[in-house]
Amino acid sequence: MKIGILKETQKGEKRVAISPNIAKMLIEKGFEVFVEEDAGSSCSFKNSDYSKVGAPIRSKSDIFKNCDVLIKINPFDNDEIEQLKKGQIIMAQLFHKSHPNDMKLIAARGATAFSMDAMPRISRAQDMDVLSSQSNLAGYKAVILGAYEMTKIFPLMMTAAGTITPSRVLVYGVGVAGLQAIATAKRLGAVVEATDIRPETKEQTESLGAKFISVDNTGEEKAEGGYAKAASEDYIRRQKEAVNKSLFQADLVITTAMVPGRKSPILITEDQIKQMKNGAVIIDLAAAQGGNVEISKLNKTVIKHGVKIIGTTISPESVSTNASDLYGKNMFNFIKHLTKDNEFKWELDEEITDETLIVYNGKIRKNGKTE
Ligand code: NAD
Repeated sequence: MKIGILKETQKGEKRVAISPNIAKMLIEKGFEVFVEEDAGSSCSFKNSDYSKVGAPIRSKSDIFKNCDVLIKINPFDNDEIEQLKKGQIIMAQLFHKSHPNDMKLIAARGATAFSMDAMPRISRAQDMDVLSSQSNLAGYKAVILGAYEMTKIFPLMMTAAGTITPSRVLVYGVGVAGLQAIATAKRLGAVVEATDIRPETKEQTESLGAKFISVDNTGEEKAEGGYAKAASEDYIRRQKEAVNKSLFQADLVITTAMVPGRKSPILITEDQIKQMKNGAVIIDLAAAQGGNVEISKLNKTVIKHGVKIIGTTISPESVSTNASDLYGKNMFNFIKHLTKDNEFKWELDEEITDETLIVYNGKIRKNGKTE
């Protein structure tokens, strides 16, 4: 089977779907791998890195003409969709719910499309979950960005000139990004506290050596499939009571609280910011979904009441080499899951296939699922 790796076309994208390491793993499994010219040049992979492991460099049109499977990170653009052939299989984050028209165009070409962002959140799908592998890196980078923007260092330091006390870091939302932010801030020597609406995150927080701030969540709707439900106003009020003392002492605050399909909850208001320390930094990782901070703005730094508020998604492009390796490993595991003896042998009623297969042989499946 011939697998084609396409160069990303989205502006600002620096990742590539398959790194040379992963191309080598696919070739060792018996697949043929072809790579579009300069596909990895925005991260640290040269064309020669691919050819050295046995993945030849080809033109884009050659890949579209000759490959059975086409792999990307971002959705296929119109120009790419027009080049699809009947029976070709594409794999990328298609965000099919927000791009229904693209699904119609892909179906019209008679292709088959898998969407990596539709991966179910079940244990056996963990090693194929691109949203997790990428947001893990965002959690790390948020702390590094915070450290850069702060006027203080993280660790306790005893010097001849005196003792520096450790910085205090507070994390809202202990999901994939939040957990990595806690781990990174701890490794750098900060005193770390965290809170989450899901009580099971207490143990995870404490296992990283951080303090969990519990908020009474009696009466709140229970989470589904690992995700949080929207919190009530009463919960947000109780959360403020429990967390404010730590918020007003924090040097760095990282907010990651999201609710799938909904605007992010506002957890920090301007009134709370007025009571924070002068020079404190907030990194709002939920900014693209509306933000956890009342006055944060996506891709902007707002300085108000002496606090620097940075609204960002911390795109994995900022660590494009690692992000590509992890995305590629997820993709390798997914291809392994769908194939037997290097031929596709998927079962439509198997949950991972069922959820991720959005267009099958030119037919759009209902919500990406068996009808
Ligand atoms: P997410 O990005 O949707 O949300 C981040 C965090 O914000 C979550 O922990 C959520 O509980 C929290 N949050 C939401 N509203 C809040 C509020 N009002 N106050 C405080 N916190 C709030 O979630 P995520 O990081 O993608 O993952 C959530 C969970 O799913 C994690 O436990 C993760 O380990 C699990 N997960 C499992 C799989 C799998 O099994 N395949 C894959 C990915 C994630």
